[in-house]
Amino acid sequence: MKHTAFDVLVIGAGHAGTEAAHAAWRMGARVALITFQKSDIGVMSCNPAIGGLGKGHLVREIDALDGIMGRVADRAAIQFRLLNRRKGPAVRGPRVQADRALYQAAMQSEINAAHGLEVIEAEVVDLLSEEDGTINGVRLGDGTDIPAGATILTSGTFLRGLMHIGDEKTVGGRHGANASMRLADRIRDLGVRIGRLKTGTPPRIRRSSIRFEGLEEQVGDETPTLFSFLHDKAFAPQISCSITHTNERTHDIIRANLDRSAMYGGMIDGTGPRYCPSIEDKVVRFSEKTSHQIFLEPESLTSDLVYPNGISTSLPADVQLDYVRSIAGLEQAEIAQLGYAIEYDFVDPRGLTSGLMVHGARGLYLAGQINGTTGYEEAAGQGLVAAINAVKAVRGEEAVRFSRSEGYLGVMIDDLTTRGVTEPYRMFTSRAEYRLLLRADNADSRLTPRGVEIGCVGERRAATFGAKAAELADHRSSMEGELLSAKTLIDLGLNIRPDSPARSGYETLRLKDCDPAVLIAAVPAFHELKIAAVEQLRCGAVYDSYVARQLKEIESVRANEGLAIPAGFDFGAIDGLSSEVRSKFQTVRPETLAQAGRIEGITPAAIVVLLAAIRHGT
Ligand code: FAD
Repeated sequence: MKHTAFDVLVIGAGHAGTEAAHAAWRMGARVALITFQKSDIGVMSCNPAIGGLGKGHLVREIDALDGIMGRVADRAAIQFRLLNRRKGPAVRGPRVQADRALYQAAMQSEINAAHGLEVIEAEVVDLLSEEDGTINGVRLGDGTDIPAGATILTSGTFLRGLMHIGDEKTVGGRHGANASMRLADRIRDLGVRIGRLKTGTPPRIRRSSIRFEGLEEQVGDETPTLFSFLHDKAFAPQISCSITHTNERTHDIIRANLDRSAMYGGMIDGTGPRYCPSIEDKVVRFSEKTSHQIFLEPESLTSDLVYPNGISTSLPADVQLDYVRSIAGLEQAEIAQLGYAIEYDFVDPRGLTSGLMVHGARGLYLAGQINGTTGYEEAAGQGLVAAINAVKAVRGEEAVRFSRSEGYLGVMIDDLTTRGVTEPYRMFTSRAEYRLLLRADNADSRLTPRGVEIGCVGERRAATFGAKAAELADHRSSMEGELLSAKTLIDLGLNIRPDSPARSGYETLRLKDCDPAVLIAAVPAFHELKIAAVEQLRCGAVYDSYVARQLKEIESVRANEGLAIPAGFDFGAIDGLSSEVRSKFQTVRPETLAQAGRIEGITPAAIVVLLAAIRHGT
């Protein structure tokens, strides 16, 4: 087959690849998405869920830049839950349980609807290069060469992928798929640093074999929090999940068979995700715990499969069945697909620019799990950033960098390219020092105007955002223009002193016990205001002053990088740090703030806390 030249080639149609291809297409580039099979588009390799703490923020940011993950997740969602609902808006994480089949179908229809975006079914086996190392296209398995201005490689867990179930090893990128071996050799030849990581997945259980009676039900939110700023209601019927637990018998079975686990029997070299441990890891690392929670999540409205979230494993088949059947509700469980672990090559992301281009291989961009991350959302975010930069480079325009204060996208890429990874990297809100600023609710106001400027935001999104921004400005000025006396506020049930001065409606939103719905109903001048807009204003109003303080703190860290940490300083007594961070400080005992910031795994957010502790002489 003959292919004409493309501006951008994207290798891999997983979460990074689809987002990258769509973004480059939105920017008007001639794009081809090359993947083993068209049916790869939108496959969720592991859990059928999108979002969560930190990850939900990333999806909102992708949506704000007109990316597709949020829209697709909304369409496929069969349960919406806003995590950390009781905590402040900055750390609330939207999450959906997705129907795997609906997700794939919705993603495929987004890609199919992108007229001109070509999908090529093939294996990429080599990269074409010029004498100076510039990458200018790819070679397919049948020998066809496809030239291109830029190439984005998003091969996920496929590079030299090796799956393990007990002592059984199978070469493959995930269940039922080939690995990418020839391309892995080519990547090694590029001179980038390569490492090995691993991850795992639980066995899938037939729903019809589960006894649900007596198990705790986990219902979704009554009012769904959608990912996309373009959506206002759920699309699919909503369901509940169930909760069960491992018990001492489960743990005994696992302990007695640890030497048969690929992870514990020495069969695997790669490092696994500490934050998403296998059930073997949990039993060993938290040996004092007699039980672990398991969410039984239906994989689809139409399939008989259930994903037991919390028991990923690389134990052999007989042990998987034994321990699964020791769990309440699963006594008669039938396993439809065994759990397994997979190890794969990743590229040290410190060899990439902030636009995700490989240093020394102009024209080649890497995004997704290949860069040492784990998770669909992290992959999609990188795909978007790589595509923006690939298109800009092809056009001879300046690279685009997202800063840490603009979004979690900036935090992630800065972490990856400056600190590298020692274990699969996943997003957490604690990684962001500008947490209060980077909320899921304001992702559009932070990033949509930037996306319009970059050229990756379409007309519909730009118009919707413009209308929303105008509405918010209008609402804010109405609320600022109305003064409410202390008596009025007390009559509304607000807890303020009777001699307090009058305050505007906008300032009233800052009061802890202010309910926007009550305020709108009680003040005639506010009757016409929309509740969603007022709730959004409330988030901003509440955070304004904290954000200003946070910006000052960060500025202060910058100014104090040379600050000496007193000898004998008690790192163990610092409040507001995880025990892991405290113990890193105690082990390394940094002498200056700058040195503390260079310790592996220490986030800028932790340095802000350390500086405050030094000042207070903790
Ligand atoms: P993928 O989604 O893996 O997509 C890679 C794409 O590249 C595929 O479409 C593939 O066909 C294509 N491809 C590869 N090589 C070639 C080639 N040479 N030519 C053409 N096409 C090619 N994440 C979590 O957050 N939590 C978990 O618990 C978790 N567990 C996991 C368990 C398993 C077993 C696996 C496999 C993954 C797990 N993940 C987990 C990771 C999650 O699936 C990935 O982070 C995410 O899918 C990465 O997206 P990606 O786009 O980088 O790669």
